[in-house]
Amino acid sequence: MRAKPYLFVLFYFLLTFTNGKPVKSKGKKAIEKSPAKAPKVKTNTDALKYLDKFGYNACGGHGNGKSVVGGGPLCQSSFQTMIEHFQTVFRLPVTGKLDEATINLMNRPRCSLGDYPMGYTVFRPWPNTTLKWRLDGNTPKFSKDSIRSHVQEAFDDWARYAPLKFREVQGDEKPNFLISFETGEHKDGFPFDGAGGTLAHAFFPTDGKVHFDSTEEWTDKYDGFGYNFRLVASHEIGHALGLAHSTDPKSLMYPFYQLIQPQDLLPKDDRDGIRALYGTSETNKPTTFAATTAATQTTKKTTTKKTTKSKTTKKTTTTKKPTATQSPVLAHDRCARYLDVVFGGGPDKWLYTLDYDLVWRYHPDFGQWDTRGLPITEVFPGAEPHMMAGILSPKTQKIYLFKGYRVWRFSSPSSLDQGFPKRIFGTGTPYNPIAALYEKGHIWLLKGGILYKFDENDLQYEFHRPPKRIDEQFPGVPKNVRAAFTHDGKHYFFTEPDRNVYVFDIRSRRVEPGYPKPMTTGWFACNGERGRGR
Ligand SMILES: [Zn+2]
Ligand SMILES: [Zn+2]
Repeated sequence: MRAKPYLFVLFYFLLTFTNGKPVKSKGKKAIEKSPAKAPKVKTNTDALKYLDKFGYNACGGHGNGKSVVGGGPLCQSSFQTMIEHFQTVFRLPVTGKLDEATINLMNRPRCSLGDYPMGYTVFRPWPNTTLKWRLDGNTPKFSKDSIRSHVQEAFDDWARYAPLKFREVQGDEKPNFLISFETGEHKDGFPFDGAGGTLAHAFFPTDGKVHFDSTEEWTDKYDGFGYNFRLVASHEIGHALGLAHSTDPKSLMYPFYQLIQPQDLLPKDDRDGIRALYGTSETNKPTTFAATTAATQTTKKTTTKKTTKSKTTKKTTTTKKPTATQSPVLAHDRCARYLDVVFGGGPDKWLYTLDYDLVWRYHPDFGQWDTRGLPITEVFPGAEPHMMAGILSPKTQKIYLFKGYRVWRFSSPSSLDQGFPKRIFGTGTPYNPIAALYEKGHIWLLKGGILYKFDENDLQYEFHRPPKRIDEQFPGVPKNVRAAFTHDGKHYFFTEPDRNVYVFDIRSRRVEPGYPKPMTTGWFACNGERGRGR
């Protein structure tokens, strides 16, 4: 499961962006008369603001449009790099320039939330499986009743594929989700921009707010005119359930508005996403994960809560046919998730995987995973929850963990080196790298499909131009890498949305024969034979 504090980062970008720029507070009158049109991206300055707003500034985005030009003394992200990121993510020709295809995409109506990170799970899922919603305030265009029925439809889009149940509150019940139409500035840091531009936004679990721009041309038809309310509601509810944006242009969680016919809901990528977060009846089978080790038996109560939650067979009211017979038996439920922080192969041989505040280990000699997560603060005293990337250096045997602009260095899991965590220095340091790889005597941090060289000796990021793209550095590996790690002379790359693994041999510079394979079963800790608990 991906459970990282991206939301905070994302909000930081957006909050600072909007705070730095007074939003027409006296424009209320104008909005009442006829909705103002959202501004268009035309110039490099507009594009820079757009990229900063939607999370493409690797420096974290100060949001006032100056950060990337003047920059702080320590961090600079060039306009060209940001454009290249955007083009890479949305599969446009990577020109590094504001060309026509890029302008066109930037001017498509979209969700207000940023594009980083992409992928399934950015935050913890809701802890309970029956959730309630309430519609507040006025509704434009349709009657309140018809909006209410579309909201329920949108929730049901997700309930069909995950063990979740949604209903409207009754009487004074406290809702989990608060749904409303808002206009312009509405004091949550995401002001709406008039007709077009940004259409709606929602907050990740367990906030529950879902807002729609009341000035949009909302419709309940699927004929290509206006914006279909139910589709946008489904997208936003996806966020409210913990899903981030997807790069899959067919998905509902694609950030740009597109028409999807109701019979095609939910697209596959979104089904995979909600199942990765909340499981399905078959992945929740407790029988698959019966292994125990001495270490895991000492795990505390705090961790059993989480484990129990994800493994309890949940009640589901959906009419979905059971598909258990088609699914491979998982070696461990970690194998169904993108593993974000993975490192190992040191003297103790453990493969460590971090998930929010827990550590899950796999031991290759025993072919077994921990049955319970261990608190990160116990395994790596001095570390924090929400680490972003990690690596065990084959050269020094030191363990490095990365988060924000900081690095933690451990001589062994229990021993944090003095003076750490430290700030990573160097122009263009990537904020919150998604993975760390070991290549040619260096650590390489990965973010947005781009590799950033990090020097172990002086803890410096070394600026490279042009930036190294992952598919160029590793022939045969595609661009759409979501998670990666280095282990025993090989790089492991996990792609989204297709959920494959590529094993790249560092010496022969080739993807190993037979790859890609499904990430749930196709690599050493998840091949289901030795990896399965007994
Ligand atoms: Zn969105
Ligand atoms: Zn809002």
